[in-house]
Amino acid sequence: MSELDQNKTVGEIAEHYKAILQLLGEDINREGLIRTPMRAAKALWYATQGYREDADAVMRQAIFHHDGSQMVIVKGIEFYSLCEHHILPFFGHVSIGYVPDGEILGLSKLARIVNVFARRLQVQERMTSEIMESIRTTLHPKGVIVYCEAGHLCMKMRGVEKQDSVTATSAYCGVFENDPQLRAEFLSAIKQY
Ligand SMILES: [Zn+2]
Repeated sequence: MSELDQNKTVGEIAEHYKAILQLLGEDINREGLIRTPMRAAKALWYATQGYREDADAVMRQAIFHHDGSQMVIVKGIEFYSLCEHHILPFFGHVSIGYVPDGEILGLSKLARIVNVFARRLQVQERMTSEIMESIRTTLHPKGVIVYCEAGHLCMKMRGVEKQDSVTATSAYCGVFENDPQLRAEFLSAIKQY
């Protein structure tokens, strides 16, 4: 998407925010709100950047040959996403483990691909399996495991959930599927924050 097209789309989103504020009974010419529609549109555009990124292309920038077969773990990758049911934030941490099969991924790329899938309208379960699936199909490791813990504002704000409760999701494939010991090794490694 060209910069011109992006600016046009963000401008259109801002017009819609203006209409929403009016429907809420706000005075959109009030000093504090004059630039709010544009700011909100830019914030939403940023929070949904993942729609305009390609996880496969991100990973292909940094795939390296590697002979080892020990599990690689990156834990506690911070993320911010939006729940697709209420368009309210959910956020927390993702930990990723994989057992390489001849190739490894540049470590910073794992954090980048978490953002690719977090920065869009999501449900935590799908985000977790999409991260796993994208590493599986691009890197072809012997196995991948992804564990995610998050708090959901749509639950907390509406009092559905206790303030401090956390939702945990996981997804795994390959060697992690038939080796509970390996899964346990991963889980105990990521618990040691
Ligand atoms: Zn929700």
